[in-house]
Amino acid sequence: MMDADLERVGRWIRAASSVVYVVGAGLSVPSGVRAYRSGSQPIWAELVVEWGTREKLEADPAAWWKTFWLGAHGDLFRDDVMPNRGHRALARLVARDPRDPVITQNVDGLHRRAGHPEGQLVEIHGRHDRFVCSAYARCPGGDGAVDRVDLSGLDAGVIPRCARCGAPMRPLVLLFDELYESHPAFQARRARRALDDASVLVSLPPATSS
Ligand SMILES: [Zn+2]
Repeated sequence: MMDADLERVGRWIRAASSVVYVVGAGLSVPSGVRAYRSGSQPIWAELVVEWGTREKLEADPAAWWKTFWLGAHGDLFRDDVMPNRGHRALARLVARDPRDPVITQNVDGLHRRAGHPEGQLVEIHGRHDRFVCSAYARCPGGDGAVDRVDLSGLDAGVIPRCARCGAPMRPLVLLFDELYESHPAFQARRARRALDDASVLVSLPPATSS
């Protein structure tokens, strides 16, 4: 983007009554997080299409955790994956106006680690570091999430299970055969309202580059 274009976008943002920022996977690529549909290792074709569903999780939870979750999301657990300049710049930008939300498709938690104001973040696809019972609609524990599960037995086929009902635990992320309304954590209604109310929508990075 040329400087003149950036200046024009800046003017729109400053003049807008409300701005909503929509973030995709491309923002985290410079941090070392592979996007599903880009790069030399096509996660999309090899893993997501076949494994990224609730149906597959329920059919074979041990294989789902090992093959799909750890296979496609291993980057998220590396110590050297850190927020980049884009995350930090966006955090500073939205901190100037507490009315402006960021709707992110990313589950990597890098916005929060960049100091993003928590109340302005809508993690529409969930979080990789929160876990829920896969039977939450029927579970006596409800849809509450925990921040840790024991994956040490995966190689032996032992999956993390809900302490209340025994169903498999799962990451609090939206799967490809689920609806945004499937769990309140996805904040589907809030995202829709923010999009309806916005006078300017900023897509980061531009859709054509992610
Ligand atoms: Zn349960």
